[in-house]
Amino acid sequence: MIFDYAPAPESRSVVRLRDTYDLFIDGEFTPAEGAGTLPTVNPADETELARFAVAGEADVDRAVAAARRAHDTVWSRMSGAERGKYLFRIARIIQERSRELAVLESMDNGKPIKETRDVDLPLVAAHFFYYAGWADKLAHAGLGRDPRPLGVAAQIIPWNFPLLMLAWKIAPALATGNTVVLKPAETTPLSALVFAEICQEADLPPGVVNIVTGAGETGRTLVEHPGTDKVAFTGSTEVGRQIARSVAGTGKRVTLELGGKGANIVYDDAAVDQAVEGIVSGIFFNQGHVCCAGSRLLVQESIADELLPKLKERIGKLRLGDPLDKNTDIGAINSAAQLERIRELTDTVEEEGVQRWSPSCELPSAGYWFAPTVLTGVSQAHRVAREEIFGPVLSVLTFRTPEEAVAKANNSPYGLSAGVWTEKGSRMLWTAERLRAGVIWSNTFNKFDPTSPFGGYKESGYGREGGRHGLEAYLG
Ligand code: NAD
Ligand code: MG
Repeated sequence: MIFDYAPAPESRSVVRLRDTYDLFIDGEFTPAEGAGTLPTVNPADETELARFAVAGEADVDRAVAAARRAHDTVWSRMSGAERGKYLFRIARIIQERSRELAVLESMDNGKPIKETRDVDLPLVAAHFFYYAGWADKLAHAGLGRDPRPLGVAAQIIPWNFPLLMLAWKIAPALATGNTVVLKPAETTPLSALVFAEICQEADLPPGVVNIVTGAGETGRTLVEHPGTDKVAFTGSTEVGRQIARSVAGTGKRVTLELGGKGANIVYDDAAVDQAVEGIVSGIFFNQGHVCCAGSRLLVQESIADELLPKLKERIGKLRLGDPLDKNTDIGAINSAAQLERIRELTDTVEEEGVQRWSPSCELPSAGYWFAPTVLTGVSQAHRVAREEIFGPVLSVLTFRTPEEAVAKANNSPYGLSAGVWTEKGSRMLWTAERLRAGVIWSNTFNKFDPTSPFGGYKESGYGREGGRHGLEAYLG
């Protein structure tokens, strides 16, 4: 039976929004010199939350200069133990303000409060605590006796995990003595701007963290600025390619974390009910706006008829709606543009012989929404099996032998993540050894931990973030 839940909205009053946000440069909020402001909306109801400054060339220049000064005169000279104290302080303030940040993130991004409160924010704090612990132990990281910071890092992040991606970028950079200029995504800049307030609250020396807001053009200006030593980017493969081209030959170090088309392989001996939970969290967590989503289900043919009805029954119980309602499982699509992209990739699948299924599910009238969708009868040649959809859409393929599962899983331009469901340890290891994916989950999916490196092969990018490996990307 399906229970009817009374609405249980989280209070918005814990968030105090300004009308307009300036740039954060050299420890102060400062107006942009050039290109005006942009709005950021709540994708669940299309209301404008605030406006933010668009940084132009002169602003990016000021931010890079502030980061350089802070690096040369303060941050790179400070002992690791001292830097660690600042990072611990930031981590603690994030914990103290986590409810406010969780609500703000849900409002600006559209993701359910259940996720921001229980996943994003705890992981953000954990990431700062973890790298704070490394700051005075860099000589023991296996990277030489006296590893040195690279200098100023230009960091560009996407909208799917705004504050978590900020943590993945800023925590290791600061722990290793680098300073940063970070650009959040244009649809989700607000948590980064509150993070700037947290830097002030923590008395972080001016210029160590600078936040410049704006759209792709601001990102391009930052990447092309000659005054930075390192570029760290998470986002689309297309922009990743442009960045790789533009920094080629400059001597800047680069890490790119791009798209994915993760295979979630379910063998015939898997615990089916657990696998169903894992498939659901693999593709519907964060509306499928996850680069490592398990967007291709590869199920062994002999159990497909048992598994698919159970999967559909489970999907039918997901609750879609107000992201601030504590009962909500699926929130809003982040932007009109992303909704359009998902539609464009899925609108004509039935003409290509694919069967499309969604539970009966009422979509709110305002905002950007997409019902959870399962596509069966998908072959490897179909676009929905090859391209990243970045939405709540699961493509289902079948296989007969382990060799076929591995061949199909690896038949992708991407190589970011995979899942393997089996009760047999040897089969698990046999499969994992043959998969070309940076992260492989066994009998679980979408589990993250700051101690674990994360990154891809092939068109999913290069470099690793997280864990000891994540230090390497910021040390020379
Ligand atoms: P995007 O790559 O355009 O945006 C990511 C970030 O890069 C944003 O901050 C953006 O302002 C900035 N940016 C855009 N153009 C730039 C440029 N020329 N130089 C420097 N920075 C630039 O991603 P999107 O348009 O928001 O999403 C498009 C697709 O990308 C999605 O459908 C999805 O497939 C993929 N995506 C992947 C991830 C990921 O985590 N790997 C995240 C977001 C989007
Ligand atoms: Mg927004």
